[in-house]
Amino acid sequence: MTDFKNKSVLVLGGSRGIGAAIVRRFAADGAVVTFTWGGSSEAARQLASETGSVAVQIDSADRDAVIAQVRASGPLDVLVVNAGIAVFGDALEQSADEIERLFKINIHAPYYASVEAARQMPEGGRIVVIGSVNGDRMPIAGMASYAVSKSALQGLARGLARDFGPRGITINVVQPGPIDTDANPAEGPMKALMHSFMALKRHGRPEEVAGMVAWLAGPEAGFVTGAMHTIDGAFGA
Ligand code: NDP
Repeated sequence: MTDFKNKSVLVLGGSRGIGAAIVRRFAADGAVVTFTWGGSSEAARQLASETGSVAVQIDSADRDAVIAQVRASGPLDVLVVNAGIAVFGDALEQSADEIERLFKINIHAPYYASVEAARQMPEGGRIVVIGSVNGDRMPIAGMASYAVSKSALQGLARGLARDFGPRGITINVVQPGPIDTDANPAEGPMKALMHSFMALKRHGRPEEVAGMVAWLAGPEAGFVTGAMHTIDGAFGA
């Protein structure tokens, strides 16, 4: 447990999976949490009622709506950008509109949300972006756009750490490997292949990722910025 009592936390993409575990963790640690959701109204409603957090429907592909939500949240102590999608398939056959939407959600939203949050953040403010070990290693075909997007977050953190450092704001990327969520079920068809790359032959749990996020957002991580933090059972090792 970390003490986030009365800290103001915004999680972009919090209705399900890793995002929901992050919302639960900050709420359990005393924070005042707002999270956004895109399509999962019932999951968002239930999570808000379970945790006492506020749920707001914002499509992360809508840059101006994301910026407006961050601005309306006021001075945040912690921003977590979790919303992300994958589009699988042959790069030569994929729809450009679909790939463009992925880049908007996975790259543009984290960038503009981080910049907007930093405008009002107090000294000690924390920004954590959920990347992927696929930013370092992409061992299968059909996920190039996803790999591009998660590598881009590495540049985002390195660059914005320089811009925000003088104001005492940190920005870091958490890079999960396979985590048991709707997007990547532990018992899904890719299980054996993914585990073959790993030293720990299991999917991670969303709560394990939330624990790393909480550490990065907490007082012990004040000297940690512009860095990638991999939690992947050695998928990328
Ligand atoms: P899920 O698909 O289980 O959940 C995704 C979450 O993001 C949901 O809350 C969803 O909300 C939200 N979201 C997605 N698109 C949008 C959008 N356009 N606008 C608003 N919210 C949106 O994914 P995971 O929990 O597995 O993944 C979360 C993050 O972790 C992603 O960035 C992913 O790339 C990353 N990651 C996941 C790994 C895994 O193995 N699971 C491994 C490495 C990285 P809603 O349903 O309401 O639209």
